[in-house]
Amino acid sequence: MDEKLKRPLLLVAAVVLAGLVFTFDSVTDFDSSVAVLYLAVLVIVSAAGTGKDVTRAAELCIGLTLLSWIIVHRDDPTASSAMRCIFACIAIGVTGALLISRKRLVATKVELERSRSEVELFANSVPFVLWRSNPRGEIEYLNASWTAVTGLDRWSVLEGQRYNDVVHPDDMPSLVETVSKAVATRTTTDLKVRVRQSDGSYRWMQIYDNPAYSPLTEQVERFGGLSDVHDEVVAKQELERVRSELEISRTELINFTDSVPQILWRADALGNIDFFNRRYAEVTGRDVELALDRQDFVDDIHPDDREDYSRLVGQAFASRSELRASFRLRHADGSYRWMSVVGRPVRPTDGSDDIRYYGGVSDIHDEVTSHQKVRDLNETLEQRVEERTSELLRTERRYAGLFDVSNMTFAEMDFSAAEVMLDKIKAAGVTDLRAYMTVNPEELERTLGAIKTTRVNRALARMMGYDSVADLVANPPSQNAEDGSEVLLRQLEMYYYGADHIDGRTVLVGKNGKRIPVYFTVTRLSDGLHLSSHVDLSDQERIEQMRQAAQAELARANRIATVGAFSASIAHELNQPISAMVIDARTGLRLLAREGPGMEAVDRILQRVEKNAQRVAGIVQRTRENLVARGRTGKLIDLFRLASETRDLIDHDLKRADVEMEIVCSNTLSSVIADPVELQQVLVNLINNAVDAMRGQITERRITLGFVEKQTTVRVRVADTGPGIADEHIEKLFDPFFTTKSSGIGMGLQICRSAVEAMGGELTVTNQAGGGASFEFDLPLAQGQPKSGTEASFSGSPG
Ligand code: ADP
Repeated sequence: MDEKLKRPLLLVAAVVLAGLVFTFDSVTDFDSSVAVLYLAVLVIVSAAGTGKDVTRAAELCIGLTLLSWIIVHRDDPTASSAMRCIFACIAIGVTGALLISRKRLVATKVELERSRSEVELFANSVPFVLWRSNPRGEIEYLNASWTAVTGLDRWSVLEGQRYNDVVHPDDMPSLVETVSKAVATRTTTDLKVRVRQSDGSYRWMQIYDNPAYSPLTEQVERFGGLSDVHDEVVAKQELERVRSELEISRTELINFTDSVPQILWRADALGNIDFFNRRYAEVTGRDVELALDRQDFVDDIHPDDREDYSRLVGQAFASRSELRASFRLRHADGSYRWMSVVGRPVRPTDGSDDIRYYGGVSDIHDEVTSHQKVRDLNETLEQRVEERTSELLRTERRYAGLFDVSNMTFAEMDFSAAEVMLDKIKAAGVTDLRAYMTVNPEELERTLGAIKTTRVNRALARMMGYDSVADLVANPPSQNAEDGSEVLLRQLEMYYYGADHIDGRTVLVGKNGKRIPVYFTVTRLSDGLHLSSHVDLSDQERIEQMRQAAQAELARANRIATVGAFSASIAHELNQPISAMVIDARTGLRLLAREGPGMEAVDRILQRVEKNAQRVAGIVQRTRENLVARGRTGKLIDLFRLASETRDLIDHDLKRADVEMEIVCSNTLSSVIADPVELQQVLVNLINNAVDAMRGQITERRITLGFVEKQTTVRVRVADTGPGIADEHIEKLFDPFFTTKSSGIGMGLQICRSAVEAMGGELTVTNQAGGGASFEFDLPLAQGQPKSGTEASFSGSPG
């Protein structure tokens, strides 16, 4: 039946039943026992109405019971009937109360069921996983979000207690530990773990599990939830990563700023510096923190530069423009060095107006001081240039004067036009000018034709036999010398290869074909001008001829001396056999005298032998005396001078044999006493031998003529770099006629030794450690003697 219809019908039925019971009770005398039927009325009202309806119905039924009793017993009320009436009323009241109480219970149950459904609905509608666990921490309830999040059926998970299967294995240890601890201590679990999602991925989720006393179970149960904090955790991790990267970058930045060799700084828009790198402390010796605290950077700037610096800083910061300034900064050692500061304003990227200055201070001391030096130098240079210019002007005037009136010959030629032609040839890539001109004679002719004589001086005109300089200037330059074209080509080469000057010999061709041998020099002046001067070699050539004649004479004298000495030696050698011959002849004569007549002829012959022998001896003696037994003249000799003269004398031979000769002696060398002619002859002999010994050798050819002063003597040494003396020759080297040369006569050393002995010394020879022979002898020092020029005599004879 329709619920809506059921209620009014039941209520009507109840009213009808109540009316029937009342009527029956009022007309019968059952002493209220009919009133028990009112209980049925109450049951019907209870089924159809509310608690209030039941209360009202009970009140009505009691009223009707009382009314019935009054009607029935108004005339004859009895106690027993009254008591029955009262009991009936009590029964109706108690039943009504019971029905109301039942009604309330049912309402409460419905309400409870509704609340439970609501809670379930609520729990299932929130987007979090919720659970309830028992005091041991075992989950007994999971809401529907569990399935939505993990994709697993919550009931089967609960059944198998498999809810931890969805936790990331790495997070299990911390989960177990944290939950066990929280359960044991009845505290809150607050933990983030990774939970496997329905799609298999893991997401960070926050577990928040709280203990709470349950009045139902009267135990401390736990209620918890799982919320998705993945994005938050990931964002946090990202933040951490970025933060650590930032920290690394910051450290790197600090390391970087500390490693640059400049001071780096940062300031706010008001000029307050809030950062210095470590270099600041190294340079100024100041504590960075303290300096930033005090903002007294300016105190280290040189007092003379402070005002300028502050002004520039003020201007830059006021106009928010770049700061540039130089100043002297006091360094840690107290010295001031020039520094340059550059600072640039940087606007923040957030668009605010809060600009910052970033800048650096670098050491420019060396540049500044070198600039200063360059400036000073420039000033000095300018001054010098001025001086030089005026000096040049004076020189130019002097040059002009000198040029005209000098006895030296000068000619000035203009090569500028020829140089232009050479430039073109060079630009065409020609590297060998001479070869090029040889194959292009017309080009050479054109180039030579462009050379002009600009001026010559009177001395040159005179030397070449011209009456006026103009005649000579008018001559084509190439015709002024026998090899004029060659001389000019050499001058072209001088320009072509960038040389300053050339020199050489040529024969000038003067007026009427006059030939003048000259030594010429050509110097390049500015603007393509060439200045040449000439030395007349006519005289020099005569002198050279005389020198060669003297040389020949010396050689001849040498030969004569050698032959003379040779004769002396022969005389010495012959003396003894001739004496023996004389003695023998005399003995023969004595014997013949004893033998008697018949021997007159022998006697005569032997007498002749004796006479002749005596004659030979006389001749020999005379020759010997003439040649060697003459008294010598001792003179004070400046050894260095004598050595130099000797070298000059044999220069020709040395050059021809390509031998270098050096004289080694101290400038304080004292004079010796000796016969200059003989000493020179000894030196010449020894040097010639050395030259002979080294002739043709490929290794170095050098003769050292050395003088070492000792206490009373000067040691003279002639050493060479030749083969030295063979061991088997050294003993007989000074023997007469010992020679290893095909054209030698072996008398030179013998004569030298005699001459040296005559001067008071002894000639010895040794082989040098490094190779070559060394002939040495001592000469007595001229102690207390006046310097050279004064004669002193000593005597002695060789042999
Ligand atoms: P000559 O020069 O006529 O040979 P010397 O008496 O001057 O006669 O020399 C004798 C020899 O001594 C030479 O033939 C040569 O063998 C040797 N001699 C002399 N000087 C040197 C020297 N400087 N180096 C090597 N041998 C030398």
